[in-house]
Amino acid sequence: MKESSTTSKLFYEEEKATKIFLWLFYIFYISFELIYYYIFPNIYGRGITRPQQGLGIWVYVILFGIFPLAIYFMKKGNPYIVKYLYIYSFILVDTVHTILIYYGTDKPFGSGDIAEVVFILFAPIFVNKRYFWTVSAGMVLKYILLGVLLLDVRVVVPTVIYIILSAIAYIILIRFNSYIGSLIEVHEELRKTEKLAVIGQMAAAIGHEIRNPLSSLKGFTQLQQERYPNTNDFYPIMIQEIDRINSIVNDLMYLGKPKEIKFVKANIEEIIAYTLSITQHQAEKEKVTIETVIAGPLPPLECDSHQLKQVFINLIKNAIESMPDGGRVKINVNVLDGNKMKISIRDEGCGIDDGRIHNLGEPFYTTKNEGTGLGLMVSNQIIQDHQGELTFKSSVGNGTTVIVTIPITQTFGK
Ligand code: ADP
Ligand code: MG
Repeated sequence: MKESSTTSKLFYEEEKATKIFLWLFYIFYISFELIYYYIFPNIYGRGITRPQQGLGIWVYVILFGIFPLAIYFMKKGNPYIVKYLYIYSFILVDTVHTILIYYGTDKPFGSGDIAEVVFILFAPIFVNKRYFWTVSAGMVLKYILLGVLLLDVRVVVPTVIYIILSAIAYIILIRFNSYIGSLIEVHEELRKTEKLAVIGQMAAAIGHEIRNPLSSLKGFTQLQQERYPNTNDFYPIMIQEIDRINSIVNDLMYLGKPKEIKFVKANIEEIIAYTLSITQHQAEKEKVTIETVIAGPLPPLECDSHQLKQVFINLIKNAIESMPDGGRVKINVNVLDGNKMKISIRDEGCGIDDGRIHNLGEPFYTTKNEGTGLGLMVSNQIIQDHQGELTFKSSVGNGTTVIVTIPITQTFGK
């Protein structure tokens, strides 16, 4: 639904731009022809009259003949092609016409046409770089070609003028583009925030309802395990699965909870060591070795250590899960610029291609069968609450490095 309405809006914009262009083109073209070839020569005596030279009347036949074609394309639902139809027809007709008139003669080369200026100056209304380059390169190359063929240096004047006009049009075009780009970004941001807000409320409500029955379920399972120690096989698995549900619910609840972070000075080495003890089992199972390099004695980090542990567990798990055939994870911790702690986690896994990097951290974005797509979102939120940054560097097939930077001391309210 959304997709098609967006496309139809863009389509409608293209149609509007095409109509404006057609109006401008014909108004300017007809006025220019009338003034230059009929009115001026009548006032000032003899002059060139277009229809008798070069392609003669065919110039008009072609340039007005493509109009029904343009209407046909617009009605057929393909307005995109109309602008190209005009620029190509115009360049072709004008080049042939000029060559027929001037080639092999020493007549002074009369150049420049208002339609060319219309083409270049109004190219930005289509907000299409390819079309823009077609127009400006087309015009400039046309004059260079004519200059070479007719051996006439007079083509320098229109060439220079059109290069300058193109530069102006280009500036307008990139302003349009960048403006549209930021509109899209703002829209996207809004969409994400809205989505998050709704999910947050829902998650908090559902999470709350699930948590209580879950904890009694876990309690009874443990009780049952103690009561029937001989039928132990499945209890650990049941408890482990309940814990898994619990951690998913916790992730979900984090979204809806008002942020209550307790900043306390903590030792980053201890935080990392704790995370490793939690992920160790999974790492061994997946034949992944984890190597930690900590650069010298590190200052205490002002943070909510409980939440940071959650972040590192998420990131290390992701690293392990990216290497189904085993491999190495390297964790580096060092101080950056004297006031930031930088923790990087590098894996040799599948990597993330550029097109997907911006999806990371979106709620429920996952590529795994058993994934929740919440880990990175929660991690991102926690790091942001710490005024820090989470960045990804990845190359497909070679691996991913996730870099966390957090200020060593928090500066809230200072
Ligand atoms: P989940 O792990 O449940 O899928 P996450 O939010 O933790 O959710 O991660 C979202 C997605 O980001 C993953 O499904 C995966 O496609 C991608 N991803 C995250 N970390 C890595 C990594 N280290 N290497 C490759 N892909 C990753
Ligand atoms: Mg994950």
